[in-house]
Amino acid sequence: MAEMMDRRRIYLDHAATTPFHPEVTEAMLPYLSDRFGNPSSIYSEGREARKAVEAARSRVAEALGADPSEIIFTSGGTEADNLAVMGTARANRDRGDHIVTTVIEHHAVLEPCHYLEDEGCKVTYLPVDGAGIVDPEELREAITPTTLLVSVMHANNEVGTVQPIEEISAVCRDAGVYLHTDAVQAVGALEVDVDRLGVDMLSVSAHKLYGPKGTGCLYVRRGTKLQSILLGGGQEKRMRSGTENVAGIVGFGVAMELAAREWRQRSEHVRPLRDRLIAGILERIPYTRLNGDRQRRLPNNVNVLFDFIEGEAICLKLDFQGIAASTGSACSSESGETSHVLLALGIPLEEAHGSLRLTLGRENRVEDVDYVLEKLPPIIEELRRISPLYPG
Ligand SMILES: *Cc1c(COP(=O)(O)O)cnc(C)c1O
Repeated sequence: MAEMMDRRRIYLDHAATTPFHPEVTEAMLPYLSDRFGNPSSIYSEGREARKAVEAARSRVAEALGADPSEIIFTSGGTEADNLAVMGTARANRDRGDHIVTTVIEHHAVLEPCHYLEDEGCKVTYLPVDGAGIVDPEELREAITPTTLLVSVMHANNEVGTVQPIEEISAVCRDAGVYLHTDAVQAVGALEVDVDRLGVDMLSVSAHKLYGPKGTGCLYVRRGTKLQSILLGGGQEKRMRSGTENVAGIVGFGVAMELAAREWRQRSEHVRPLRDRLIAGILERIPYTRLNGDRQRRLPNNVNVLFDFIEGEAICLKLDFQGIAASTGSACSSESGETSHVLLALGIPLEEAHGSLRLTLGRENRVEDVDYVLEKLPPIIEELRRISPLYPG
């Protein structure tokens, strides 16, 4: 047992969450001990907390190419997505009742869309091609005079596909429709500048970029009509009631500053590791395919499909060898549901269960990749040997 505990762990699930950056932890610590003030209080403890929150807001805004007044701190990506979808739908009912999104969005966008359908809104779920890309021309055709919002994710959390957001925003601008993008997986891996992308709203989550869990933001372009989904004390300019998560926001600010400074370097670090993993897996293991687009994908994402076996069994065996990996999204592994993203890519239900997602991060090294390439083939071979479906 001791030997198992001491063994080196290789963390390859950065799309699920990331470890803390040491500078993030360091910046947060005072706000987890003696700097406990409520930012709304007028005495010095409160003013100190307010100053920290506003400094973080400036850092986040600067990292996104936004103005600090356009940042609403939230409890993370989920709340930012909920606020964007439900908040615009409710504030703009005079403009229409139609939303356009895609079949591969995160549940944090899809569920509010389903909820709004129950409230009488109409939602179009755009399909994607076999690689997981949305066609901007199909979006153009889906927009009607009653469309009030388009929501298309920047990069997919399961298969890593990167959408043509600039082309999509051109279509939305032509039509005069708000565009929201869930950029939770993109920030820190790609250049994310709200003006260059041309988006009106953009969601970010701190724990996907070496920051703390339970913090994130929604960027809201000045002039966008939005209604709060939380009712209470009116913090965040009435857009997000609730006492600010000061420590979390401080950590988020630092994580965003680091992401803006290091995204290119981080991408250049993980891209060759990703390519080595993909090539090594496809070379060594038969009946295996890459999910998603080969080129237009996040630099840290590997998502492969192994015929005849279950991704969950692979993950358990990898875990035993010291490797943390996942089948797809953290959410679908918990509920045991088939990935809606893989199904949207046209992968048959029985095959979709055989997927494995490996997502790299700043602390991974080439030795980690080689260790996986050594351990994975015998695991696949062993599982296939006991699979009744395996012909070999
Ligand atoms: C993780 C994730 C979310 C949810 O963010 P939380 O901060 O965990 O609520 C939303 N969208 C995408 C694409 C994600 O990867």
